Amino acid sequence: MQYSLKSPALWSAIKREERRQQDTIELIASENIVSDAVREAQGSVLTNKYAEGYPNQRYYGGCEYIDQVEQLAIDYAKKLFAAPYANVQPHSGSQANMAVYQALLKPGDVILGMGMDAGGHLTHGAKVNFSGKLYRSYSYDLDPETEELDYEAIRQQALEVKPKLIVAGASAYSKIIDWQAFRKIADEVGAYLMVDMAHIAGLVAAGLHPSPIPVADVVTTTTHKTLRGPRGGMILAKDPALGKKIDSALFPGTQGGPLEHVIAAKAQAFYEDLQPEFTDYIKQVVQNAAAMAEVFKESNLVRVVSGGTENHLLNLDLTKSGITGKDAQNLLDSVHITTNKEAIPNDPRSPFITSGLRIGTPAITSRGFQEADAKKVARLILQALAAPHDENQLQQVQAGVDELLAKYPIY
Ligand code: PLP
Repeated sequence: MQYSLKSPALWSAIKREERRQQDTIELIASENIVSDAVREAQGSVLTNKYAEGYPNQRYYGGCEYIDQVEQLAIDYAKKLFAAPYANVQPHSGSQANMAVYQALLKPGDVILGMGMDAGGHLTHGAKVNFSGKLYRSYSYDLDPETEELDYEAIRQQALEVKPKLIVAGASAYSKIIDWQAFRKIADEVGAYLMVDMAHIAGLVAAGLHPSPIPVADVVTTTTHKTLRGPRGGMILAKDPALGKKIDSALFPGTQGGPLEHVIAAKAQAFYEDLQPEFTDYIKQVVQNAAAMAEVFKESNLVRVVSGGTENHLLNLDLTKSGITGKDAQNLLDSVHITTNKEAIPNDPRSPFITSGLRIGTPAITSRGFQEADAKKVARLILQALAAPHDENQLQQVQAGVDELLAKYPIY
């Protein structure tokens, strides 16, 4: 077939990326390693199909099987989260948040979300993002002492700025979030409560974090982090009547044709997430993060932000090491440990430099790492941070990395 011609440059880059994934310890808290079946679904013929609209209400012909696929994704999502409403069409977490804002707000309305320094996401009202440009956005911080959410301070701020919508949820927060506390604040000021559970959705599905579904008006998530699905987003709600508004805010409001091949991969991932093994996996993710935090807490080189972790990630304050987040990320890249620089609370450095690192365990746990392995990884990180210019030490770290990777190959 004439389409069989492959771009050598493209496929060599893809092969090199595959090799890179094999050959690195992946600690980016928002990444994971999907199953072969998820990849197969995403690479299926469904990519050929237009299906604007929703199951049984499409603007195109030939959607009878697409409808089955999307309905399966919806049904699995509802079951996984005990949610009366699910929309599986958002192309990404950001698109999910955009659709919710469009459904519930008018431009110029006030939103209150977590600041980026504190661990919030761009779409929670950052000034460089549509959410901070279209809406009047205010951000709440962490308590400077505990580095945890201070619900009374958030309440005071909400009473002051009178938000129409409060966003709870984070990209880099390592403690359990009290949804009920947010609900009380939202009720007191007459605001909607939107929970963005992108990072912790897998923990919620497995019962290792309280569920926001019965508490929030709307819940958004990505599907590619702890849920271990394809890159994408999803919206859930307890009230199907609100769901109708969200459906039309997403399509035709902010998106066109849904990515049905990705929706098929979401369905496959949710099916996997519904199996008992997924709960075991998430338990291991949390145990691995705790094991790493234990090692870091014993070190004088780094400080664990907010004193520890109750989920899949932890944030390190590198100030004492004298290394910036950016340099630490580059240093660890050089020994095949992938992390990302992260702002610490009230970080004096810019977001391009930062004073911290964010570390997460979803991907290494998918490879099979257990607590003893996670502790080894933490020690290797400390060894590299202690001797950033010592070739001999860095070679030893690299050898330790290779040994762990050989134990747990992927694909
Ligand atoms: N919400 C949170 C809490 C996130 O951490 C992220 C991404 O990291 C998003 C939303 C956005 O997801 P996406 O990158 O798919 O737009």
